[in-house]
Amino acid sequence: MTLAFWKTIERIPGHASDTRDWCADLAACWTNAKRYLPETSRYAERIDCPWPGGENCPRHVVRHKGALVRAVCGDPGRLCDALDLTQEDIRIRELDHRKLFADIAAALDLVPSDGLQLGSHIFNVGDHAIAAGRSFPVFASLASPRTPLGQVDVLELGRRNLPFVLLVTSLMAVESNVAAFLAARRGRVLTLAECLGFATAPRKAFAASMPLAELFAPEIAQLAGPSEATAGPVMVLPAGARWGDLRFTFREEAVLNVSFRGQPPARFEPDQLGMRDERNRKPTRQWRLLLTCCALGGALPRSFPVRTIKGQQPASGLLRILAQFERGYERQRQLLAAALKANFGIDEDPFSVRDDCYEAKFLVDASALRQGRGDQRDRNFAGND
Ligand SMILES: [Zn+2]
Repeated sequence: MTLAFWKTIERIPGHASDTRDWCADLAACWTNAKRYLPETSRYAERIDCPWPGGENCPRHVVRHKGALVRAVCGDPGRLCDALDLTQEDIRIRELDHRKLFADIAAALDLVPSDGLQLGSHIFNVGDHAIAAGRSFPVFASLASPRTPLGQVDVLELGRRNLPFVLLVTSLMAVESNVAAFLAARRGRVLTLAECLGFATAPRKAFAASMPLAELFAPEIAQLAGPSEATAGPVMVLPAGARWGDLRFTFREEAVLNVSFRGQPPARFEPDQLGMRDERNRKPTRQWRLLLTCCALGGALPRSFPVRTIKGQQPASGLLRILAQFERGYERQRQLLAAALKANFGIDEDPFSVRDDCYEAKFLVDASALRQGRGDQRDRNFAGND
């Protein structure tokens, strides 16, 4: 597969050498490998002698008339055999990083990044998207076992607070403590050889060695979140359960207790109801709308501007909070209703229409929110009632 390719990249300092040198280990995959090893205008002046060689080694390149080239050992006793070569053999080829990583990105279904190079040996290959707005980065390193990556080289990789993958040429090319260091930051080290094979004609680029859902399963699972991981309801209710059987109590702004017919409550945080924003880790607008609904005694406005709810003018603090939801309000309320139906497995709409409001069919208890208002002046859900 591609193992020889990565090993050869590790072996060749500066990723530039003559064609003969590159070919020595890549003969079996040369048609695939050479697309990443374009010819330069330079030619080798020296050709390696068989190891260990003498003090006058390695062999000098001597050009003869025509295209004939000979590599001759400088050792007086001609320690090493002279080689007959061609111009092509001594042409310097240099690894094309940009093309290499563009093809890796294509094989692993990554959106290529703009800033490719992160450090002397680390590259930002691209992001793998699993759903709208959910993706994780994939990095690659071309460090060699001569100068393996250390912790200081990978400090930046967890900066986006997302799971990530670091592809390496071999496990010898990272210091032994790096994998654990990255794991603590949700990073995983994989070798390029285990992820990639060479594709056959016509493109002769790379192909993923296994389905991407399998290859990236740990990262995908971390990003999937409870809303997709738990396909079913978050609470098991008996058949025929209705919204009026449930009581919603916010113990604090990010903890919702739900009890069924007076039984001990189940405790939910935004993650469990799929109501946490992946980007900033804060509760979503749906969660805050539900919280506002409870603070309003189980009601939400029909429309804006809000005058009365259940015949009463809401407190000024609540009106200010409601104003956050004015843009696209009806859509947000529908999303909340749909999320509640999915989370609790009750098919009827959780709200009924009244004259001046949508009334929640579930019961609410906002007393804990009211008690907390003294130390929550800037987000006072209870208002001034
Ligand atoms: Zn020699």
